[in-house]
Amino acid sequence: MTICLICFEPLVSSFDWRSLLKPSSTDRICTVCLQRCPIITSSICRGCGRSLADLAPSHYELDTCKDCQKWNDGSFFNRSLYTYSNFMQSIIERFKFQGDYEIIQAFKEQWYKFYKKECNPKAILVPIPLTDERLYERGFNQSLALAELISDNIEMPLVRCSGTKQSKKNRRSRLAERPEFKVVNSSMVTNQEFLLIDDIYTTGATVRQAAKCLQEAGARSVRSLTLIRA
Ligand SMILES: [Zn+2]
Ligand SMILES: [Zn+2]
Repeated sequence: MTICLICFEPLVSSFDWRSLLKPSSTDRICTVCLQRCPIITSSICRGCGRSLADLAPSHYELDTCKDCQKWNDGSFFNRSLYTYSNFMQSIIERFKFQGDYEIIQAFKEQWYKFYKKECNPKAILVPIPLTDERLYERGFNQSLALAELISDNIEMPLVRCSGTKQSKKNRRSRLAERPEFKVVNSSMVTNQEFLLIDDIYTTGATVRQAAKCLQEAGARSVRSLTLIRA
């Protein structure tokens, strides 16, 4: 019997003739949990992909939020499937911090459809790397797990430099400090199109720094796709 990876209730499959034609259902999430995952459906910020309906009118102008206006890098685009909620946070905590590696499979179907709808199919997926220390602690890279759910066109041209925690710094000092990422193999990067993959977009500093690093190494285009826009 298949169970929901989030609440562990048995999955009751609604039988229909189409299901006979599919090899097997990839659903690993029950309808109750699915309904609790807040998909971003309203109009979004063209830069970071957040829902503009969640913002006060003073926090955006036309189709761009104030945060993206401050970044002032009009060529960067992020898209996210879900908005942040306590429910999503609890799932991400189980995934990243409690070693529930399989739970992410619950999102596979929606995540894959979103990727197909929003992203350039030719772009090479680049999971945001962890530092060696973090990878050792966690045992896996959550961004690589997310990338593997949607494509096998994945490369790791970046490494993450060990150093200070970026969340303690403001936007200006984050950009001014020594780079958080470096390219390990520029021949992999030149003239390529990339899609960065990460679990959560919070301030945007991580994906933007990774994008900047790839662009400086000669990438033709870099966008990002994250599961959640916090
Ligand atoms: Zn469930
Ligand atoms: Zn934005």
